[in-house]
Amino acid sequence: MDRPGLTLPTAAPREPEFGHDALVVCDNVVRIFQTESVEVQALQGLDLLVHEGEMVAIVGASGSGKSTLLHVLAGVDAPTAGRARVAGHDLADMGRAERVHYRRTIVGFVRQQSSQNLVPYLTASQVVDLPMTIAGLARKVRRARTQELLETLGVSDCADRRPDQMSGGEQQRVAIAVALANQPRLLLADEPTGELDSDTAVEVFAALRTANRELGATVVIVTHDAAVSGQVARTVAIRDGRTSSEVVRSGGSVGTPGGAEEYAVMDRAGRVQVPREFREALALTRRVRLTLAENRVEIRSDRGEGA
Ligand code: ADP
Ligand code: MG
Repeated sequence: MDRPGLTLPTAAPREPEFGHDALVVCDNVVRIFQTESVEVQALQGLDLLVHEGEMVAIVGASGSGKSTLLHVLAGVDAPTAGRARVAGHDLADMGRAERVHYRRTIVGFVRQQSSQNLVPYLTASQVVDLPMTIAGLARKVRRARTQELLETLGVSDCADRRPDQMSGGEQQRVAIAVALANQPRLLLADEPTGELDSDTAVEVFAALRTANRELGATVVIVTHDAAVSGQVARTVAIRDGRTSSEVVRSGGSVGTPGGAEEYAVMDRAGRVQVPREFREALALTRRVRLTLAENRVEIRSDRGEGA
């Protein structure tokens, strides 16, 4: 265990680029929707890193920007400002051909309404086959992969059924198979269990976990189901178009209470959101006092304390 003597660098080493080793990088992403008279800032400088192999839940109130974020990551919408990069693709600056390639092979997307994921007149086998046909894969390869996917996700019974012959949970699991057909690096799911009862939601969630663990996809799932966010190692909360806090569970304790720690997210400019309960408890308002203590930073009300 010999260590070479420490030498001080003559110049400060260049800081690696933000998120250089992450699969998904959102760096100060802004998305503004301009309608006739109003301007909606759906994403207001959102930072997010997701590493290869992770399974992350995004939670947040309705209107907080979750779907907007997924649409940006899926390559169906582009940020107004900021940097968004997935697997080396700069999502703010993709040409047509790159965008088509990106959407076909790098990401898979599962929507909330299963009717938007499937095609009414195609059976499960046919609809899973479709993206592979478009990608030009050989019939034999397509057939084997379709069978494997339906089996792995527990819906091989549905191979020859059309959506109206499947339950809601089966439809969503077939939709996951479709999204995985071209072996995307990143699987996105926007409230995939939103229309399902809780037992069925558990099945669909298990299928997403299988996609992550057995099929190797990195998974980002938007949900407002607290039960779902309790099942993943990392939950990121979005508030007003920004990531505001994260809950991280330690390895072995996924799905069990305890072992979870909540973090506030600091952006690259050093901004942190103080939870409302904390602000109310100490009547913190516009201006607060910050002090650096030995191993912590303290935030205090700017009133009182003899000052
Ligand atoms: P969430 O999925 O968290 O409910 P969204 O990302 O759908 O939130 O929406 C965030 C905000 O952006 C909302 O105020 C919504 O009304 C607005 N918004 C989303 N899409 C559009 C659009 N195409 N045109 C105008 N406003 C939009
Ligand atoms: Mg939404």
